[in-house]
Amino acid sequence: MRYNNTNNLTDYSQRIDDPAIAKYIKNNNQWSIIFSIILAFVAVVGFQIYGETSSEMDNPEAFYIGLGIGGMFLLIAFFQIAGRKKSTTWDGTVVEKNIRKKRRHDKYQDMWENYLLYQVTIKADNGKKHNITAEDDDTKYNYFKIGDRVRHHKGLNTYEKQDKSSDTIIFCNACATLNNIEEDYCFRCKCPLLK
Ligand SMILES: [Zn+2]
Repeated sequence: MRYNNTNNLTDYSQRIDDPAIAKYIKNNNQWSIIFSIILAFVAVVGFQIYGETSSEMDNPEAFYIGLGIGGMFLLIAFFQIAGRKKSTTWDGTVVEKNIRKKRRHDKYQDMWENYLLYQVTIKADNGKKHNITAEDDDTKYNYFKIGDRVRHHKGLNTYEKQDKSSDTIIFCNACATLNNIEEDYCFRCKCPLLK
Protein backbone atom coordinates (compact mmCIF):
# COMPACT_ATOMS: atom_id res chain seq x y z
CA MET A 1 0.00 0.00 0.00
CA ARG A 2 1.35 3.45 -0.97
CA TYR A 3 0.73 6.70 0.81
CA ASN A 4 1.07 10.22 -0.45
CA ASN A 5 3.33 12.44 1.55
CA THR A 6 0.88 15.24 2.14
CA ASN A 7 0.91 14.41 5.84
CA ASN A 8 3.79 16.33 7.39
CA LEU A 9 3.30 14.50 10.70
CA THR A 10 1.00 17.16 12.12
CA ASP A 11 -2.21 15.14 11.88
CA TYR A 12 -3.58 11.68 12.63
CA SER A 13 -2.44 9.03 10.18
CA GLN A 14 -4.56 7.58 7.37
CA ARG A 15 -2.66 4.35 7.74
CA ILE A 16 -4.99 3.16 10.50
CA ASP A 17 -7.17 1.87 7.61
CA ASP A 18 -4.34 -0.28 6.24
CA PRO A 19 -5.57 -3.90 6.05
CA ALA A 20 -2.37 -4.98 7.83
CA ILE A 21 -3.69 -3.40 11.04
CA ALA A 22 -7.03 -5.26 10.86
CA LYS A 23 -5.11 -8.46 10.15
CA TYR A 24 -2.86 -7.87 13.17
CA ILE A 25 -5.90 -7.48 15.45
CA LYS A 26 -7.45 -10.69 14.11
CA ASN A 27 -4.21 -12.68 14.44
CA ASN A 28 -3.61 -11.30 17.90
CA ASN A 29 -7.02 -12.53 19.08
CA GLN A 30 -6.48 -15.95 17.50
CA TRP A 31 -3.10 -16.27 19.22
CA SER A 32 -4.65 -15.35 22.57
CA ILE A 33 -7.12 -18.24 22.16
CA ILE A 34 -4.51 -20.77 20.99
CA PHE A 35 -2.05 -19.78 23.72
CA SER A 36 -4.66 -20.02 26.48
CA ILE A 37 -5.83 -23.45 25.26
CA ILE A 38 -2.21 -24.70 25.40
CA LEU A 39 -1.75 -23.27 28.92
CA ALA A 40 -5.06 -24.80 30.07
CA PHE A 41 -4.09 -28.18 28.63
CA VAL A 42 -0.68 -28.07 30.35
CA ALA A 43 -2.31 -27.15 33.67
CA VAL A 44 -4.86 -30.00 33.54
CA VAL A 45 -2.33 -32.65 32.45
CA GLY A 46 0.40 -31.32 34.75
CA PHE A 47 -1.75 -31.39 37.86
CA GLN A 48 -3.09 -34.84 37.05
CA ILE A 49 0.46 -36.19 36.74
CA TYR A 50 1.35 -34.41 39.98
CA GLY A 51 -1.62 -36.11 41.66
CA GLU A 52 -0.44 -39.51 40.43
CA THR A 53 3.20 -39.15 41.42
CA SER A 54 3.34 -36.82 44.42
CA SER A 55 2.67 -37.74 48.02
CA GLU A 56 1.51 -34.18 48.74
CA MET A 57 -1.69 -34.41 46.74
CA ASP A 58 -3.91 -37.11 45.27
CA ASN A 59 -6.28 -37.33 42.36
CA PRO A 60 -8.97 -36.29 41.77
CA GLU A 61 -8.13 -33.21 43.94
CA ALA A 62 -5.05 -32.37 41.87
CA PHE A 63 -7.03 -32.91 38.67
CA TYR A 64 -9.76 -30.50 39.85
CA ILE A 65 -7.18 -27.83 40.75
CA GLY A 66 -5.65 -28.20 37.27
CA LEU A 67 -9.12 -27.88 35.79
CA GLY A 68 -9.74 -24.69 37.80
CA ILE A 69 -6.43 -23.10 36.80
CA GLY A 70 -6.89 -24.17 33.17
CA GLY A 71 -10.36 -22.61 33.17
CA MET A 72 -8.88 -19.39 34.52
CA PHE A 73 -6.45 -19.15 31.58
CA LEU A 74 -9.37 -19.52 29.17
CA LEU A 75 -11.40 -16.88 31.03
CA ILE A 76 -8.50 -14.39 31.03
CA ALA A 77 -8.10 -14.77 27.24
CA PHE A 78 -11.86 -14.38 26.81
CA PHE A 79 -11.94 -11.13 28.81
CA GLN A 80 -8.84 -9.77 27.01
CA ILE A 81 -10.46 -10.33 23.61
CA ALA A 82 -13.83 -9.00 24.78
CA GLY A 83 -12.08 -5.88 26.14
CA ARG A 84 -10.29 -5.26 22.85
CA LYS A 85 -13.49 -5.81 20.84
CA LYS A 86 -15.49 -3.50 23.08
CA SER A 87 -12.91 -0.68 22.94
CA THR A 88 -13.75 2.38 20.83
CA THR A 89 -11.88 5.07 18.93
CA TRP A 90 -11.93 8.38 20.78
CA ASP A 91 -9.94 11.62 20.95
CA GLY A 92 -8.60 13.36 24.01
CA THR A 93 -6.02 15.75 25.44
CA VAL A 94 -3.05 15.16 27.74
CA VAL A 95 -4.04 17.09 30.87
CA GLU A 96 -1.65 15.96 33.57
CA LYS A 97 1.73 14.31 34.08
CA ASN A 98 3.27 13.24 37.34
CA ILE A 99 6.05 11.15 38.83
CA ARG A 100 5.51 9.44 42.15
CA LYS A 101 7.96 7.71 44.45
CA LYS A 102 6.62 4.28 45.36
CA ARG A 103 7.72 1.29 47.40
CA ARG A 104 7.04 -2.34 46.74
CA HIS A 105 7.82 -5.56 48.51
CA ASP A 106 9.88 -8.10 46.61
CA LYS A 107 8.58 -11.35 48.08
CA TYR A 108 11.34 -13.49 46.58
CA GLN A 109 14.17 -11.52 48.16
CA ASP A 110 12.01 -10.32 51.07
CA MET A 111 13.18 -6.77 50.50
CA TRP A 112 11.54 -3.40 50.06
CA GLU A 113 12.55 -1.49 46.97
CA ASN A 114 11.87 1.99 45.69
CA TYR A 115 10.62 2.70 42.22
CA LEU A 116 9.25 5.64 40.28
CA LEU A 117 5.76 5.55 38.81
CA TYR A 118 5.45 7.72 35.72
CA GLN A 119 1.89 8.66 34.84
CA VAL A 120 0.33 10.53 31.93
CA THR A 121 -3.36 11.43 32.25
CA ILE A 122 -5.48 11.81 29.14
CA LYS A 123 -8.91 13.41 29.33
CA ALA A 124 -11.21 12.08 26.62
CA ASP A 125 -13.47 14.60 24.89
CA ASN A 126 -16.40 12.97 26.74
CA GLY A 127 -14.74 13.93 30.05
CA LYS A 128 -13.49 10.50 31.13
CA LYS A 129 -9.89 10.28 32.31
CA HIS A 130 -7.45 7.53 31.30
CA ASN A 131 -3.95 6.93 32.63
CA ILE A 132 -0.82 5.62 30.93
CA THR A 133 1.57 4.35 33.60
CA ALA A 134 5.09 2.95 33.58
CA GLU A 135 7.43 1.83 36.36
CA ASP A 136 11.01 3.17 36.25
CA ASP A 137 10.60 4.09 32.59
CA ASP A 138 10.13 7.70 31.49
CA THR A 139 9.97 7.09 27.70
CA LYS A 140 6.21 7.57 27.36
CA TYR A 141 6.23 10.25 30.04
CA ASN A 142 8.63 12.31 27.92
CA TYR A 143 6.85 11.43 24.68
CA PHE A 144 3.59 13.08 25.71
CA LYS A 145 3.39 16.80 26.58
CA ILE A 146 0.55 18.53 28.39
CA GLY A 147 -1.87 19.86 25.78
CA ASP A 148 -1.06 17.17 23.19
CA ARG A 149 -4.07 15.88 21.30
CA VAL A 150 -4.19 12.08 21.20
CA ARG A 151 -6.40 9.42 19.65
CA HIS A 152 -7.17 6.07 21.24
CA HIS A 153 -7.59 3.33 18.62
CA LYS A 154 -10.34 0.73 18.77
CA GLY A 155 -9.18 -2.87 18.90
CA LEU A 156 -5.56 -1.90 19.56
CA ASN A 157 -5.97 -0.13 22.91
CA THR A 158 -3.07 2.20 22.07
CA TYR A 159 -2.72 5.95 21.64
CA GLU A 160 -1.60 7.99 18.64
CA LYS A 161 -0.29 11.51 19.11
CA GLN A 162 -1.77 13.94 16.56
CA ASP A 163 1.29 16.15 16.13
CA LYS A 164 4.42 14.05 15.59
CA SER A 165 6.34 16.74 13.68
CA SER A 166 9.00 17.31 16.35
CA ASP A 167 9.46 13.67 17.36
CA THR A 168 12.43 11.36 16.79
CA ILE A 169 10.61 8.23 17.96
CA ILE A 170 7.23 6.61 17.34
CA PHE A 171 5.45 3.77 19.15
CA CYS A 172 3.97 1.02 17.02
CA ASN A 173 0.22 1.17 17.60
CA ALA A 174 -0.09 -2.57 17.11
CA CYS A 175 2.64 -4.08 19.29
CA ALA A 176 3.78 -0.96 21.25
CA THR A 177 7.43 -1.34 20.15
CA LEU A 178 9.52 1.81 19.99
CA ASN A 179 10.60 2.71 16.43
CA ASN A 180 12.54 5.48 14.77
CA ILE A 181 10.22 8.15 13.32
CA GLU A 182 11.98 7.73 9.94
CA GLU A 183 10.67 4.16 9.58
CA ASP A 184 7.44 3.36 7.74
CA TYR A 185 6.90 -0.11 9.22
CA CYS A 186 7.41 -1.47 12.71
CA PHE A 187 10.64 -3.48 12.72
CA ARG A 188 9.10 -6.06 15.03
CA CYS A 189 5.55 -6.77 13.83
CA LYS A 190 5.82 -5.19 10.33
CA CYS A 191 2.60 -3.21 10.79
CA PRO A 192 2.55 0.27 9.23
CA LEU A 193 3.53 2.95 11.74
CA LEU A 194 0.80 5.56 12.18
CA LYS A 195 2.43 8.61 10.65
ZN1 LIG B 1 4.79 -3.34 15.93
